[in-house]
Amino acid sequence: MKIAVLAGDGIGPEITEQAARVLEALAADGLSLELRAAPVGGTAYDATGEPLPSKTVALCEQADAILFGAIGGPRYDKLERSKRPEQALLRLRKHFDLFANLRPAVVYPELANASTLKPEVVAGLDLLILRELTSDIYFGQPRGIHTRDNGEREGFDTMRYTEGEIRRIAHVGFATARKRSKRLCSIDKSNVLETTQLWRDVVAEVGRGYPDVELTHMLVDNAAMQLVRNPKQFDVMLCGNMFGDILSDEASMLTGSIGMLPSASLNADGFGLYEPIHGSAPDIAGRDQANPLATILSAAMMLRYSLNQDAAATRVEQAVRTVLAQGYRTADIAEPGARTVGTREMGDAVIAALRD
Ligand code: NAD
Repeated sequence: MKIAVLAGDGIGPEITEQAARVLEALAADGLSLELRAAPVGGTAYDATGEPLPSKTVALCEQADAILFGAIGGPRYDKLERSKRPEQALLRLRKHFDLFANLRPAVVYPELANASTLKPEVVAGLDLLILRELTSDIYFGQPRGIHTRDNGEREGFDTMRYTEGEIRRIAHVGFATARKRSKRLCSIDKSNVLETTQLWRDVVAEVGRGYPDVELTHMLVDNAAMQLVRNPKQFDVMLCGNMFGDILSDEASMLTGSIGMLPSASLNADGFGLYEPIHGSAPDIAGRDQANPLATILSAAMMLRYSLNQDAAATRVEQAVRTVLAQGYRTADIAEPGARTVGTREMGDAVIAALRD
């Protein structure tokens, strides 16, 4: 199994190094994994003048999955838009048609106090937001700002989903729910938006092929409220692009720690790009302070969703639980006054826990 490792900028190289070491430890135990690195983002722009060089795309095409660090930084903010680091991620999503974005929000018992919500509301939370990533109002045409005959400006966008687009994300939703606790909650606004009435109808149709998965529907405004009232009622939440964008950020804050949250973006063939949800954290880059656990957990998702190595994925996730239980904390998840470890020492601890 070939993995393209795109470390990127800022803390990207430090955190992906730890995830790569964890994968190498699994390879040493007999898992057939081959890791190959390629530049991306600002680092790639510095080296080649392009944020996503064609050689990097070629390496990804030959791989079974992409492990991605983070990109961006103040040095690149004044570049013309097409040369900015962020373009690399947008182009990779488009090139590989990565339409399914999986964002788990897990609250580990030891970190329940890190949330701004009461510990009893979030302790033990383990939900997954599945967001459609390539359609909806963000891409629908026509859109624009124009001036009406009376001289007043008017802005407009088009919310649009085809049946096929809904069908394919719904299949991912049901298949994902099957790998978890077999409950899927589909989010829409079918009481006022036609597009999302179609969403509800098509999701229900697809659901007939998955009788073992319990399907419920919820209006997005209620879902936003329920996420802070009683988030543990959810397992997999299936959302269109815009609702998923908003609800996944809300859900990530339930956990209170950006350095802990992994993500996956998949296409129809199961090929995927795996990355932490945080950015390149230029404020702490190069100081061995970044939390590598979101990237390590992204590697675990890669094992599960693209490489079909469920047992290895569970082993990595269990190792992360073990190090947290043992009291290892990077600065971002430490209680005030607690002893903290650096990026590399956290990686060491996870590798040691893997071997236990
Ligand atoms: P950020 O996520 O990089 O950082 C926000 C805050 O969280 C910072 O204080 C940072 O130190 C902290 N943080 C983030 N990850 C951490 C980790 N693993 N361990 C400990 N602390 C961590 O967001 P930002 O500061 O708004 O953006 C910085 C750069 O990252 C920008 O150039 C932005 O465009 C880019 N960005 C990239 C991605 C991506 O690569 N997918 C995502 C978001 C932002």
